[in-house]
Amino acid sequence: MANYKEKAYLLLSGGQDSFVCLTWALKNFEEVEAVSVAYNQRHAKELEYAAKVAAHFGVKHTVYDIGNFLNAIADSTLLKAGNHNAHHQQADNLPASFVPNRNGLFLTIISNHAFRNNEKHIQIITGTCETDFSGYPDCRDSYIKSKEVELSLGLDRAVSIYTPLMWKTKAQTFEMADKAGKLKELIDLTLTCYNGVEEMHEWGRGCGECPSCLLRKKGFEEYKNQK
Ligand code: ZN
Repeated sequence: MANYKEKAYLLLSGGQDSFVCLTWALKNFEEVEAVSVAYNQRHAKELEYAAKVAAHFGVKHTVYDIGNFLNAIADSTLLKAGNHNAHHQQADNLPASFVPNRNGLFLTIISNHAFRNNEKHIQIITGTCETDFSGYPDCRDSYIKSKEVELSLGLDRAVSIYTPLMWKTKAQTFEMADKAGKLKELIDLTLTCYNGVEEMHEWGRGCGECPSCLLRKKGFEEYKNQK
């Protein structure tokens, strides 16, 4: 029996965090649908991994292609060539990979999808995390809580956003996958690397050098050592 019930919609990126959120969602909701966004990201391979993950778990998966919209309106090394380890062009306190308002836009897109499916209570799950996070302001708990209010007002529907990883470290997300019996699939079916490198390591696929790979590698080692 599910803890929450009814249907939930999960933002699926093809990375580690949304994979773990999906295992959590399948345990807690009667039905789960996945939504991904294609935004002309430099390494669109992550979308292939999102499709693999959705197929593996047998969940319906919809991809919305917003084309060049974010590229036209935002600077980020996930959109244009550049050093991921540098500061963001418009903000010294943020990494170059920050895509302004990306998360807010994705949450708006997935809420539209649920609204069109005529959900009276829109339930959204996202893998945003404040603990090991890259400093993205739109991944903070305070932002998510305010987005929930904004979407509820804008759609005149009850909207709940669940963030099961908000206070988890990367080591703890590995632990969640392991406890769900899905650690092997997590390693094999996800791609988190900012450079889109698919080379396999003990901790997963990636270049092993970008900030995202370093975080994943460190989290895996921490989890392995505490086991
Ligand atoms: Zn990498």
